[in-house]
Amino acid sequence: MACADEKAAVEFMEKQRWGGEAACPRCGDTDVYQMMSKDGSERQANFRWNCRGCKKQFTVRIGTVFEDSRIELRHWCYAFWRASTSKKGVSALEIHRHTGVSYKSALFLLIRIRFAMEDSAPTPLSGDVEVDETYVGGKPRYKGQSKRGRGTNKQAVVALVERGGSVKTKPVANVTGKTLKSVIRDDVQTDSRIITDENPAYNGIGKEYAGGHHTVCHSAKEYVRGDVHSNTVEGFFSSVKRGLNGIYHSVSKEHLHRYMAEFEFRYNNRDLEDGERTIAAIKAAEGKRLLYTNPVTATY
Ligand SMILES: [Zn+2]
Repeated sequence: MACADEKAAVEFMEKQRWGGEAACPRCGDTDVYQMMSKDGSERQANFRWNCRGCKKQFTVRIGTVFEDSRIELRHWCYAFWRASTSKKGVSALEIHRHTGVSYKSALFLLIRIRFAMEDSAPTPLSGDVEVDETYVGGKPRYKGQSKRGRGTNKQAVVALVERGGSVKTKPVANVTGKTLKSVIRDDVQTDSRIITDENPAYNGIGKEYAGGHHTVCHSAKEYVRGDVHSNTVEGFFSSVKRGLNGIYHSVSKEHLHRYMAEFEFRYNNRDLEDGERTIAAIKAAEGKRLLYTNPVTATY
């Protein structure tokens, strides 16, 4: 693959970012050149460029989620590949084992990759939109633990799926009608049709939508009535749960939205080939210097 060695990984990232013509990430000038080693035989060891416009040096990392990291780009590349193509996600332990970077560095890589995968300009959903809510995350269940919501470390999450289109998820503090309906209003265009289960919290939302509100009656064993079903959103939630339980084991409430961004990204890019999906994630890393303080301090 593209990331066999560091030079190949850097040049792969440069190609994804700039195509044929490199541009200075600071001033945009394309009057730039690659720096060479002292004897001129190969590229300078850190793969730096020089910009004649602003007279500063840069690398392909500047202005991306890699910017303040010293982890080799071939490891970033591998982690992007695994996070973009593994149905259930990839654990930091696996990245650590495959690349040899420390476990902490592997955690750091994955946090940043999830951040890159977050949809920074989401468009509202329309058409047939299935909405459902569930509790995810927390530690694996132990015997006797069946409580949900308050008092447990599980987080309520709403998912909205446009059939044939994208999914959006939102962690919510509670699952009252007020909360659920406001999530729908924020994310779904009013010309849509809303499909939910029989949870009465959704009652009344139909009058705000041209297609109305249709409910699926699970208790009556009436799983599918024509096209009134919530199989799409339920399928999404079951893949999330398989990933969270099987790969990530324990996800805290503070981090859950980033894991959800990863599941959303894979779902929303499901029609792409693995390689294309990886490139889409890498491209999303551009312009996303991490702007949040993360628990794994940035010293890698
Ligand atoms: Zn410049």
